Amino acid sequence: MDLGISGKRALVCASSKGLGLGCAEALAEAGVNLVMNARGAEALEASAQAIRDQYGVDVVTVAADVTTPEGQQKVLEAAAGVDILVTNAGGPPPGLWTDWDRDDFIKALDANMLTPIALIKALVPGMIERGWGRVVNITSVSVKSPVPVLGLSNAARAGLTGYVAGTARQVAGKGVIMNNLQPGLHATDRAEALDGGAAKAQGISVEDAKKQRCATIPAGRYGTRQEFGATCAFMCSQHAGFMVAQNILLDGGATNTTM
Ligand code: NAP
Repeated sequence: MDLGISGKRALVCASSKGLGLGCAEALAEAGVNLVMNARGAEALEASAQAIRDQYGVDVVTVAADVTTPEGQQKVLEAAAGVDILVTNAGGPPPGLWTDWDRDDFIKALDANMLTPIALIKALVPGMIERGWGRVVNITSVSVKSPVPVLGLSNAARAGLTGYVAGTARQVAGKGVIMNNLQPGLHATDRAEALDGGAAKAQGISVEDAKKQRCATIPAGRYGTRQEFGATCAFMCSQHAGFMVAQNILLDGGATNTTM
């Protein structure tokens, strides 16, 4: 399918690895020029070069912590005038409900709620002026089905989802389409870290922890960054113009619900 976005420009945050990288790769395959971001410059540049080599699109890299005001400023300088925004950042650490104090909540809200909102506020006005734009926020299955040990994530991402639900409806008539993409378990560094945490908590091997977690997924496996990226690229495509404020769940069937 021709996604109809060849020649457009996208900012993909937190994209040197994992799900953000999957989104950057799939957009590049559709002919989209990229601004890619992560904190670590080496991995970021390596991923950007691989994309330039494979897809022949322009890729600008910005090594910065996108959850800080300084990082956002650097990213936004490079991304002025983009047509597509994919927000993403690392997820908060797991723990018990008693573990976190105000500072932990502020950090999680900054990373997974207030950063995407700041980027939306900075870039969507230009999209509205040009009459076309796409925003995809990488959130989590935890919005639909809270993960007990991820209280910080459950809280921050639910807040972003509420903001997007209202905002997407305010900008849809101006040609800007905004939705959220909710990953369930995917084979990335983040999933490995969570496997490690589960193994430690239960006193079992990481391999056994992974097997246990795969057994909770009807598809019987973790998702891939390529599958995730392809869905994101469709949500950024010309064909997604009637999809507004949706929360698209990619979890291999793990969340047992009809809606
Ligand atoms: P990942 O494999 O650990 O990759 C994270 C990427 O984001 C890396 O490129 C990392 O590079 C970059 N990054 C992290 N913090 C950043 C920051 N503050 N500023 C800029 N770049 C940053 O993680 P992932 O699995 O792709 O997860 C992406 C998001 O989806 C996370 O919020 C995660 O909680 C959520 N999620 C993932 C899963 C899953 O199964 N994988 C499930 C549900 C939700 P640097 O470290 O160099 O900055």
